[in-house]
Amino acid sequence: MSRFAWSTTWVMSAFGLTLALVDASPGRTWLLTGLAGFYIVLLAIGALVPRLDFYLRAVCRGPADQPWVALTFDDGPDPAITPLLLELLRRERIRAVFFFVGEAARQYPALVAQAAADAHLIGNHSNQHGHGWAFSSTQGIVAEFEAANRTFTEILGHAPRFARTPVGASCPGLAKALACLRLGNIAWDVRGLEGLYRDPTRISARVVRRARNGSIILLHELYYGVARFEPQQVLETAQLTIDGLRARGFRFVRLDRLLAQPESAPWPDGWESSPETGALLAKGRTGESIMSDHIASTTSRAGRA
Ligand SMILES: [Zn+2]
Repeated sequence: MSRFAWSTTWVMSAFGLTLALVDASPGRTWLLTGLAGFYIVLLAIGALVPRLDFYLRAVCRGPADQPWVALTFDDGPDPAITPLLLELLRRERIRAVFFFVGEAARQYPALVAQAAADAHLIGNHSNQHGHGWAFSSTQGIVAEFEAANRTFTEILGHAPRFARTPVGASCPGLAKALACLRLGNIAWDVRGLEGLYRDPTRISARVVRRARNGSIILLHELYYGVARFEPQQVLETAQLTIDGLRARGFRFVRLDRLLAQPESAPWPDGWESSPETGALLAKGRTGESIMSDHIASTTSRAGRA
């Protein structure tokens, strides 16, 4: 049972008890209003703080038994920045994850293909990087992430294994939607907050100071649809971060290696027997039909259990 389900049960029970036990009075109205307000704030915090695992589990960090970290870059691809980053990572012999936005990937497929050719992982960062999906039905969420998956499948021949939602947001239908698309939900435990700190030295110092064994580090190529950074600023941030982390004794591993142990894997149970989403997309299946298949296979597994 998710924390969302527990909280909802708890709040509804408190509502019921208040109605049953407290006499109708201004006091009861205030109590019910307070409970409703508390519930709304709880839902909002749960939606915006991935590490709370409120609606679904978010992988924020890998195993801490070794001095290793994984680099991730969000919001690309961008023709002014991605090639420079790829060159830097090639020089530094680091394999990262690029959480690309679907519609930008469709615009710059060669950058996606080049990142994959350089042995970086490509992650799904939604199709439009909007927030409407978070207020949508499970089918609406599937449609948003499936559209990006389709683009990546056309470019790479397979769908990504990892997703990161815009700003790490989550909502009640997200767990089922990502399970339908066989996408592991990846968050972070250290991020640059580039828009706030601006200066590459400050950003990298913050990341280097906060990194721990197993950290998943989030840096941005740009803030998609919101703000662009100077390419040199992005590059300098990445270089200083890499240098600083190496100076602290960390080594870089690709995210899939960091999460290789079964207990760290971000996928829900039963994925092994689910159909390959990439193959389904290649056959022209839609998110809706993939979801029906997922529900049918989950139901039949539950029936067998
Ligand atoms: Zn983003």
